[in-house]
Amino acid sequence: MINKLTIIGVGLIGGSLARALRRANAVTTLVGAGRHREQLEIARKLGVVDAVETDLARACQDSELVVLAVPLGAIRPVLEQIAPALSANTIVTDVGSAKGSVVADAEQVFHGLPANFVPGHPIAGTEQSGVEASFAELFDQRRVILTPGATTSPAAVQTVRRLWEAAGADVMEMSVAHHDAVLAATSHLPHMLAYALVDSLARQDDSQEIFDYAAGGFRDFTRIASSDPQMWHDICLANRDALVESLERFTADLHALTDAIRRQDSQQLLEIFSHAKQRRDDFCQ
Ligand code: NAP
Repeated sequence: MINKLTIIGVGLIGGSLARALRRANAVTTLVGAGRHREQLEIARKLGVVDAVETDLARACQDSELVVLAVPLGAIRPVLEQIAPALSANTIVTDVGSAKGSVVADAEQVFHGLPANFVPGHPIAGTEQSGVEASFAELFDQRRVILTPGATTSPAAVQTVRRLWEAAGADVMEMSVAHHDAVLAATSHLPHMLAYALVDSLARQDDSQEIFDYAAGGFRDFTRIASSDPQMWHDICLANRDALVESLERFTADLHALTDAIRRQDSQQLLEIFSHAKQRRDDFCQ
């Protein structure tokens, strides 16, 4: 049982983690911290956290574990604010969707990655934001990736692993670079495609008619374009190298598909569609 845990950023992910830890009875006192007291009071009234604090450094005092659940662009300023309040034993982790930028921010603020800093990323979420959208089951049987460095304390990794397991997740470890390459392909690229598709269609003169006739497939494919724009702005800039590589590879494949349609190359079209259907059917089994 953790005595005091502080979650900075009690939104969808921070709120869901708090709810899941409550469900597991894993924490004695859960403190929620952020910029806006009114928002934090909603979290307290919903029973997501026990106490709230807008002074981030004060929120971390005497905490065994601090979870940063803020947008990637806020990680560095938040670390700067809390650094003076962290004891040598405080373990810090985060939930950011890219890991290279978080590690670089921590190295910058602490002049090297502290042994008690365990970068993490739950592979779970929705297109909603805010504590009202949070729910205790979000991480059940979902993966959480930890990306400890060579100097990260194994005991700190073990504590963060147990935290996520208590929240219902399956925890795995990989390198920062591998995480960022894999997530660029599986999560960040699809979000870019959904945003680009809806934006492109919405700019056309007959966009209203296009949306009037859009059916379930369009809704399914574009659901993630309803995700928070600021969060995705931060993610694509934080993971720009891996994402640009994924986008360039995809653009080349899209050109090949366009070309096959232009040439009426039935064999290539059927090959692409059959291969994609097979892989998706396998994935969804
Ligand atoms: P969210 O629902 O918008 O919550 C973000 C929280 O951070 C809010 O409570 C916000 O409160 C607070 N915040 C923002 N800027 C802050 C700052 N400068 N200082 C202190 N608090 C600040 O976002 P989310 O979806 O939970 O995402 C949080 C993190 O999880 C992001 O790093 C994201 O990459 C990662 N993540 C998201 C998903 C997903 O599907 N959503 C999945 C996995 C990982 P105020 O605005 O009131 O300050």
